Amino acid sequence: MTRILHRSIAASLPHAVAGQGVYIQDAAGRSYIDGSGGAAVSCLGHGNVEVLDAMRAQMDRIAYAHTSFFTTDAAEDLAGKLVDLAPEGLDYVYLVSGGSEAVEAALKMARQYLVEIGQPQRRHIIARRQSYHGNTIGALATGGNAWRRAQFQPILPETHHVSPCYAYRDQRPDESADDNAQRLADELDAKIRELGADEVIAFVAEPVVGATMGAVPAVPGYFRRIREVCDRHGVLLILDEVMCGMGRTGSLFACAAEGVRPDLVTIAKGLGGGYQPIGAVMLSDAIYQAFAQGSGLFQHGHTYICHPVAAAAAGKVVEILARPGMMEQVVAMGDRLQAGLEAALGQSPFVGDIRGRGLFRGIELVVDRDSKTPFDPKMRLHARIKREAMDRGLMCYPMGGTIDGVRGDHVLLAPPYIIQPEEIDQIVERLAGAITAATA
Ligand code: PMP
Repeated sequence: MTRILHRSIAASLPHAVAGQGVYIQDAAGRSYIDGSGGAAVSCLGHGNVEVLDAMRAQMDRIAYAHTSFFTTDAAEDLAGKLVDLAPEGLDYVYLVSGGSEAVEAALKMARQYLVEIGQPQRRHIIARRQSYHGNTIGALATGGNAWRRAQFQPILPETHHVSPCYAYRDQRPDESADDNAQRLADELDAKIRELGADEVIAFVAEPVVGATMGAVPAVPGYFRRIREVCDRHGVLLILDEVMCGMGRTGSLFACAAEGVRPDLVTIAKGLGGGYQPIGAVMLSDAIYQAFAQGSGLFQHGHTYICHPVAAAAAGKVVEILARPGMMEQVVAMGDRLQAGLEAALGQSPFVGDIRGRGLFRGIELVVDRDSKTPFDPKMRLHARIKREAMDRGLMCYPMGGTIDGVRGDHVLLAPPYIIQPEEIDQIVERLAGAITAATA
């Protein structure tokens, strides 16, 4: 009997007892191919000896030192590596223990920065509908997923939402990508003006939307136009790369592919590769200097920030991710995954869209490809697919998202970057079998 409050109370879960490479084994001896990297976490797979050695070495030196007394080589090294590898303009790092913590810290950093520079009247956060930015109160309030928020109202802080960039459903037949991007940027501009042009703190968005929509990249030019709107009104741009960052989409930072310079970026998941809980906010020099020359203090902090063992694990993960050939491998395996999915599922009457970037791919399920109508939520198609996939020895990440207020289903794939071509083909075969069985 479990004494753990699991997310899904009724579910009885297999016990994971071992992990090696792209496989996880359960107590019954069954092997699962990790097609989702857990929840887009295990970027280097399981049992990476270099990461384990780095953690061991750090534990032998010192496992914990509180940040009000000390910094550590592990944390300083990690921060240095991240700044070296990040797009220009992300000059400082704040280390936390996960994605939601990173989003909370970024929101507070943005607010405090504006207070420090004499703009305390800025009080609104704008994000996008259908988004997910974490499960703590502030991060949950930022997310625009109506279903996740509903039962926590009215205790959530007020936030505001605009349309996501979602070409499959939102780009009109007569509209170019450019016009689509402009329309969405105009919507943000109008929302900022409605709230008061000098009263908005920040706009928050994922460069490639993960959990809630299933690996949806923005149309080309969208983020450049969003940046222009933010600049016009002195609004900070926070990009949430908790899921799509750390090489998942084929570039170490997803925002690099968009050609924009965000003020703040959140990362987590792949940063620790599953070996340790860790997240980070990367911030611009302007924000750092405002704190340094203002109050001299960022009014935030958790007991486990800058954890030395987590930092040592992440330092090694980042070092491995930055090695020559790693991002090329993500792109090549991602292309193979996309091609395989299109060949196996492209003609399925229930597969509306197959999309993504790098090893971050999503499949959207519909009852009818022309009308793009989602399945009846009561059917819980995503849960069926998950069960069928697990029965076939595949971990994938099916979700019931929200499409214009109606629940819809998609499957997210995010395997480790060390995956081999034949394992990609296995994922495709098992997933196609699971979807066919679940929709039968
Ligand atoms: N932001 C995004 C974009 C995420 O996908 C997630 C987790 N799925 C979070 C924030 C929250 O991260 P965590 O679960 O580590 O708190």
